Amino acid sequence: MRLRHLDLEVLRIFASIAATRVVDAAALARIQTRRLRRLVRYAYRHVPFYRDLFERCGLRPDDVRSARDLSRLPVIGTDVPRARLPEMVSREVDLDRCLRRVTAGTTGAALLCPWTRLEMLLDMMRWTQGYMRHGLRPWHKQAKIGIPPLMNRRPTFLQKLGLFRRRYFPVLESAPAKIAWLREQRPDALFTWASCLDEISRQLEREGGSLSIPLVFSASDMLWPDTRRRVHERMGARVTNTYGSVETGPAAWECPVGGGFHVLTHEVIVEILDEREDRPSRRGRLVCTPLWRFTMPLFRYAIGDMAEWDDRPCPCGSPLPVLRNLQGRACDLIQWPPGGPWVLAAPLLRPMYESPEVRQFQFVQEAPDRFLLRVVDEPTFGPETERRLLADYRTCFDGKMHVRIRKVARIRQPPEVKFTTIVTLKRLEEIRIRGGDVGCFFEDT
Ligand SMILES: [Zn+2]
Repeated sequence: MRLRHLDLEVLRIFASIAATRVVDAAALARIQTRRLRRLVRYAYRHVPFYRDLFERCGLRPDDVRSARDLSRLPVIGTDVPRARLPEMVSREVDLDRCLRRVTAGTTGAALLCPWTRLEMLLDMMRWTQGYMRHGLRPWHKQAKIGIPPLMNRRPTFLQKLGLFRRRYFPVLESAPAKIAWLREQRPDALFTWASCLDEISRQLEREGGSLSIPLVFSASDMLWPDTRRRVHERMGARVTNTYGSVETGPAAWECPVGGGFHVLTHEVIVEILDEREDRPSRRGRLVCTPLWRFTMPLFRYAIGDMAEWDDRPCPCGSPLPVLRNLQGRACDLIQWPPGGPWVLAAPLLRPMYESPEVRQFQFVQEAPDRFLLRVVDEPTFGPETERRLLADYRTCFDGKMHVRIRKVARIRQPPEVKFTTIVTLKRLEEIRIRGGDVGCFFEDT
């Protein structure tokens, strides 16, 4: 078998990750630079999109020698890989034969992310390494509550030996069903979205119950302080928050001492840019360059999240830079039925991700039982699509939830607010309190 350059690059990272000690800032900077240069050279040579982009910017691979030089490249949003996927994938790879994962879409538009098996393994190893730094042990029994299509994985070699055993449960099941499953599984560690932790802990509070799960890892969306407190009270858990995505892999881990998020700068370059002019800024939007992704390299990828740098050294002594006020994906809870328990609004999202006729969308809650669905449509979106979506929502909420669809040319929202796919009444109120203009959520544009 002939190894592709891509596999060699990924193997090289495997080897160096296993050998890296995160203690010395200068050494980490050297690793970052070396990996960036290799990635740039690879992308220029094998990825048509970047060959073009470099040429249009008048750049040769040697012009991008450090993180600072990245500013010579434009920022790309999630719409670019969506629209130009075949050009963004390495010519060494057959797109039809890659593994693919769909991102849940923080920007209201799902993206198909191609990988090789080796990259998938590297990603798993990086997540596991982070979990182990935060208390996970190979013999721990793990429970994961997530999206069903990602979960039908065959057990790995280690799992067959009884190590890193993991059981899965669908996030769209009701909170009581999730609790019953967790009682039966008795896991040592739980992995799920923050909003799902919110839902489970609220349900435990309602029924006066509790669970005993020593380790909880929260990912994907916003972990609010009151959720953390409730999870600690009702599950006795130590909660660790993580920041990452399908596109970047794990990018930052919450520090148990300082409370901020340490960025793994030698694996993912993170920039914070000002919203209007894309200049480096203390606070603004997060732009990531994962240094380990070769099937579909991403340079300066704006993932749709916002954050702030903390310049003070972390009391834990780590040399890794610290992010704070991370506004990640927020999938808020809604009270359903109105006045009833707080539940995940995720059932609203599912029909969207299954509709290729929808380019981008956002739900805005107008009343406890009423949502406005703003849609940027593809040409294939017709009256039939609209009828199908409305019928889906009638079934899903027993005809008691009113959804109206409005097609818009683009989704407008206050510039200082992170885009979320669902804007609940609670979130509208928070934006209003901070002086944001909530009117634009309801305007036709
Ligand atoms: Zn720290």
